[in-house]
Amino acid sequence: MTFTLHGIAISGGYAIGRAQLYSHDRLEVPHYVLRKADIGSEVTRFDAAVAEVRAEYGYLSEHIPEGAPSELAAFLDLHTLILDDAMISQAPKGLIRQTACNAEWALAQQTEALLAQFESFEDAYLRERQQDVKQVADKLLKALLGHPGQAPMKVSDEPTILVAHDLSPSDMVLFKRHTFAGFITDLGGTTSHTAILARSLNISSVMALHHARSLIQEGDVLIVDGIAGVVVVNPDQLILDEYQLRSDQWRLEQQKLKRLKSSPSATLDGEVVELLGNIDLPQDVFDALDENVAGIGLFRSEFLFMNRPDLPPEDEQFEAYRDVAAAMKGRPVVIRTLDSGADKSLDWMSEVSVNPALGLRAIRFCLAEPRLFVTQLRAILRASHYGQVRILIPMLSSLDELDQTLELIALAKAELEREGQPFNPGVPIGGMVEIPAVALAAEWFAQKLDFLSIGTNDLIQYTLAIDRTDDAVAHLYDPLHPAVLQLLAHTLRVGQRLKRPVSVCGEMAGDPKMTRLLLGLGLRSFSMHPAHLMAVKQQIMHSHLSSLTPLAAKLLKAGRPDRIQTYLERINAL
Ligand code: PEP
Ligand code: MG
Repeated sequence: MTFTLHGIAISGGYAIGRAQLYSHDRLEVPHYVLRKADIGSEVTRFDAAVAEVRAEYGYLSEHIPEGAPSELAAFLDLHTLILDDAMISQAPKGLIRQTACNAEWALAQQTEALLAQFESFEDAYLRERQQDVKQVADKLLKALLGHPGQAPMKVSDEPTILVAHDLSPSDMVLFKRHTFAGFITDLGGTTSHTAILARSLNISSVMALHHARSLIQEGDVLIVDGIAGVVVVNPDQLILDEYQLRSDQWRLEQQKLKRLKSSPSATLDGEVVELLGNIDLPQDVFDALDENVAGIGLFRSEFLFMNRPDLPPEDEQFEAYRDVAAAMKGRPVVIRTLDSGADKSLDWMSEVSVNPALGLRAIRFCLAEPRLFVTQLRAILRASHYGQVRILIPMLSSLDELDQTLELIALAKAELEREGQPFNPGVPIGGMVEIPAVALAAEWFAQKLDFLSIGTNDLIQYTLAIDRTDDAVAHLYDPLHPAVLQLLAHTLRVGQRLKRPVSVCGEMAGDPKMTRLLLGLGLRSFSMHPAHLMAVKQQIMHSHLSSLTPLAAKLLKAGRPDRIQTYLERINAL
């Protein structure tokens, strides 16, 4: 049956492929298609893993240590019973035979179906056994992973669309290694870090679909329309043909935009505009170089800290920062210090704030953990010897915080000097304007800093009191709110007056509908995901500052949303 789901469009383009349902436990489960001839040996491999886990339970039952809790024996018996149940020890073999998938994937699918059944049990005792089933399945999965299949790993050639209830930014980092044609989620806001990472993967995606994960079945054919925010499930041939056409046209437009790569980024009246790239991981620098960026305007260093149980040591961080600095060959690289917390939680951060977006995140966390912070500062400073590195401090709110940060930077420098380690003593220090208080007091912050970078994602979140990850309030997220525009314009004016460069590195900078307005407000440095660079450059190249600046000034005074919208349309039609 064909049906349509509506959500928030996250990243452009169209994708057509088969649904792959995702649960957190399944991400690292390998999935490949077997040759017919290998199906028998895969079933044998599965049986061997079951036998191995059964033997382990048997051994443990016979060697229960003295003083162990009395429930241990009963627990082992229960787990053996679960293991021997046909639903665990037989059903996956049926899946291997029917769908020619590998044993790990068959087990993961069967476990998910089983756990969903447990969820519906009325009896609380039975519902709680869910956990036991999960533990047995995990053990079996580990046994299988310890004995990977011999069959050549042929990943299905068909494009796949990942369907998830929710994804965390750390999940998204892992996806950088996978090749999905698109992905869709039930939850998520337009500037959540998950959405930002989706854009960085440059694949079609739609979020906030609410019931996609429960309505869509594994293997359903999906069309993801990342422009309109629509997902079509099991489309008929007519719809498929229509979307194939749209997809081809879209790809053509993207190719045309690529032709602007070597054109200078300047307005029609000759004003040069700096276009910088945002990156999450060191290897992303090559995507940025591909788009001919003038530099890296935001290296979100926190992604180096994700998906690991420990902290990245100083040398490891240094190598990552140095590699980016060296790859950019003298072009500036703005490294933002650890911006953890809120939706970017790290594995070893056990404390969960009551209200994480307002809690101990970013610079607040770093100042509470000075040794961790100094380690990162040392690594960045050491990398400054290999390129044009700049340091950016996230989520500043008070001048005291800034003073403490500057002291710790001085301390890191003094340590390196004593050790004879080379670094750039004049490394520029910038602050992010993400909290309305800092925008309003930009003057005093700018006096102590070398540059400012406006993080519109958080600035909008904090100005309008809207959780950027919560799709229930996503409709209130408004970059054109007069308060947001006043804060932006004020910060830009302060920068001009005090001669401190100001850039915008939030998602607003990569939205071509906003380019001319930002130019008109005085912005001359945009930092965005490299995939958006050409569309923004196209806007710049067709802009006349002398005509759009007076209109931007009028828009700033317009106040009412309908009037702001009218002015924006006029600016974009110039
Ligand atoms: C921002 O808040 O706009 C920003 C660039 O930082 P992040 O999106 O990583 O919070
Ligand atoms: Mg931010």
